Amino acid sequence: MSAHLFTSVITGGAGFLGSHLADRLLTERHKVIAIDNLITGNVANIQHLAGNKDFKFICQDVTEYIFLPDPVNFVWHFASPASPIDYLELPIPTLKVGALGTHNSLGLAKNKGAAFLLASTSECYGDPLVHPQNEDYWGNVNPIGPRGVYDEAKRFAEAITMAYHRYHQVNTKIVRIFNTYGPRMRLKDGRVVPAFIGQALSGEPLTIFGDGSQTRSFCYVTDLIDGIYRLMMSDYHQPVNIGNPAEMTIQQFAEEIIRLTKTSSTMEFHPLPVDDPKVRQPDISRAKKILAWEPQIAFEKGIQTTIDFFQQRVS
Ligand code: NAD
Ligand code: UDP
Repeated sequence: MSAHLFTSVITGGAGFLGSHLADRLLTERHKVIAIDNLITGNVANIQHLAGNKDFKFICQDVTEYIFLPDPVNFVWHFASPASPIDYLELPIPTLKVGALGTHNSLGLAKNKGAAFLLASTSECYGDPLVHPQNEDYWGNVNPIGPRGVYDEAKRFAEAITMAYHRYHQVNTKIVRIFNTYGPRMRLKDGRVVPAFIGQALSGEPLTIFGDGSQTRSFCYVTDLIDGIYRLMMSDYHQPVNIGNPAEMTIQQFAEEIIRLTKTSSTMEFHPLPVDDPKVRQPDISRAKKILAWEPQIAFEKGIQTTIDFFQQRVS
């Protein structure tokens, strides 16, 4: 019957978000080429796509030149370690994929005449002095702290993306992603959602860093992917925050996980990591106005689906 309409390249396509994006694009009848070196991703995230004639996986480091004979309509640049534990263990690969990997991915988009979307981050705002964060805020980032390798790589990535837009007229988009959760996160990736759920399901204490008063705002993965899809299909070139403004403290989050998993786990307090942002909440006025987007999945529903996913993985 219907042939695919477009070809999309997803760098980081075997990761948490990249694999969900692949699923969404296949339902939109795109042919999908996922490029990933599996440094923090896993083929298990895309194994359900094996044998799908519209899906191709290429194991490659995108800091090396990307050669593709295929025509390409969209480049979605998601490759980068994303969990604080990952980018603290991989500081140089994180800087390289943000700089060289973004340059190569933009070069691919330019060569192919494709639209380009950068998966940027709320970390561009650093430990913010403006709350909630809107896209006009320039941020409060420590360039030489341990998180600087990620924050500055993404800020460089935003700068080179805008340069390719202004100088080479590439049709670019920048999404600033706020904390997103859902199935396919790695149980041990160190981020707070898998950490607390894994600990609760194993009856271990939940490890709260600091006094637990720092805040985060958690977005369910399908909501995020929908906002990102809308952004790519728009003609808007400035950064757009995508995230769920429902904010809570990390202690409240721990209490919710304890309640929903009905665990007997306690809470255990550990030192706060250096430069850990004290507050984080997206101002999504721009996404609402430009993309007619706002999150649909309530925290309790999304987190229950995520708990169910991890339940099968905790021994
Ligand atoms: P993830 O670690 O699951 O996925 C990242 C993928 O990129 C992995 O599969 C990894 O192997 C791949 N990768 C890394 N370096 C590469 C390289 N040099 N060449 C090829 N592949 C490479 O993380 P994620 O949560 O899916 O994050 C995806 C993107 O979204 C990242 O760019 C991240 O910065 C951004 N982001 C995510 C969140 C979130 O809450 N999940 C928040 C803000 C930004
Ligand atoms: N955190 C925590 N315990 C953990 C892991 C994380 O208290 O086991 C805290 C972390 O210090 C931060 C928040 O939870 O304040 C979110 O951390 P995460 O690693 O998920 O991502 P971040 O939002 O910091 O990028």
